[in-house]
Amino acid sequence: MANLLLHTCCGPCATYSVEEWRRKGLEVAALWYNPNIHPWHEFILRREGMVDLARSLELPLDIQEGQVTDYFRRVGRDRVGRCAHCFSLRLGETARAAREWGLDAFSTTLLISPYQKHELLQEVAEEVSRRYKVRFLYRDLRPGYQRSRQLARQHGLYRQKHCGCIYSLRERLSGMQVRDDGTPVVARKVAPR
Ligand code: SF4
Repeated sequence: MANLLLHTCCGPCATYSVEEWRRKGLEVAALWYNPNIHPWHEFILRREGMVDLARSLELPLDIQEGQVTDYFRRVGRDRVGRCAHCFSLRLGETARAAREWGLDAFSTTLLISPYQKHELLQEVAEEVSRRYKVRFLYRDLRPGYQRSRQLARQHGLYRQKHCGCIYSLRERLSGMQVRDDGTPVVARKVAPR
């Protein structure tokens, strides 16, 4: 049976993703490495949700804490292009670990989210795969997104309200809409009558 190291961003996204890869006959192990998550209590909530899920799915899980500075160092001043750096950081660590542990392939639970930049994610993962010489397994898991939310409710998992980084948190709190290139959509002001 081929084995897969699955990068996990959170418990809810892992529910269906693990189910799906196991259904394909793969032996799945998971890695938690998400130094992008801000603030600290959010990081803890997501990490603990993943630990609980791994326990109930009997899923081998390795936690790599990392530091939020890993994220900021990688993104630098490129706030607009930050998601490519963020994907590369997290998937790079996953591919490196998969190679070190002699596993056949890597993938990520981020592939289930309709809110991620899916094509960019795939592109970055392929580049990481070439860099570390480990196969990247792609599957468009987005049709399983609703099912993953149901499973998350059944498992009583914490469900986050922003993507992860401080910028995405600020955008959510300010109700700011952001284009695909990361630039804010500025609402037109309506003159008072
Ligand atoms: S918006 Fe999400 S994917 Fe993009 S940099 Fe922030 S945490 Fe990473």
